[in-house]
Amino acid sequence: MQKLVRVKLSVEEYVREQFHKQMRPPSQCPNCGHIRRLWALGYYQRYTTGLLGKAIAILVRRFRCRDCKITVSCLPCFAQPYRLVNHTTLEAFIKGRHRQRDVQAQWDLLQRYLRRFAEWQPELLKIIGHRFGRASPKEEATAFWRRAVATCGSASQLTVLLVEQFGTTCFTTYRCHQAPFAQ
Ligand SMILES: [Zn+2]
Repeated sequence: MQKLVRVKLSVEEYVREQFHKQMRPPSQCPNCGHIRRLWALGYYQRYTTGLLGKAIAILVRRFRCRDCKITVSCLPCFAQPYRLVNHTTLEAFIKGRHRQRDVQAQWDLLQRYLRRFAEWQPELLKIIGHRFGRASPKEEATAFWRRAVATCGSASQLTVLLVEQFGTTCFTTYRCHQAPFAQ
């Protein structure tokens, strides 16, 4: 399973401070609900993007539950689940800051994200209802996305909310977020 962990660090700071080593296990197992049963299993490497939009490798902490044996990875919230571009750059793109260097660097991928978000929007609305206010059926994907980000405070907080409260993301629903005991 995957849990998004709120960290106040940039990607670069997370790497520099080796913050993956400081990541604490979630107190409750998201699968069986037992308390203080998760222990450190190791790390896996994945990529996200940094300040200038370039891909940066990060290590993600994994834990295993002593009781149900499920593994839980703790993804820092600047990174998106299963997507390369980080939340800060995604947010700049959604807000129309298209000339920003990191946005330019990942332009093609961000365009693909937008198309995917637009395709997913009807399904997403079925899941979340009017969580971000009543949407007009004609509202464009970008306008809806911008509104959702504004309501949550940031693109990162939007993803955290979707994962924690609805078990979904801006692009699809993943099995790893279907936690019966999500915190
Ligand atoms: Zn468990």
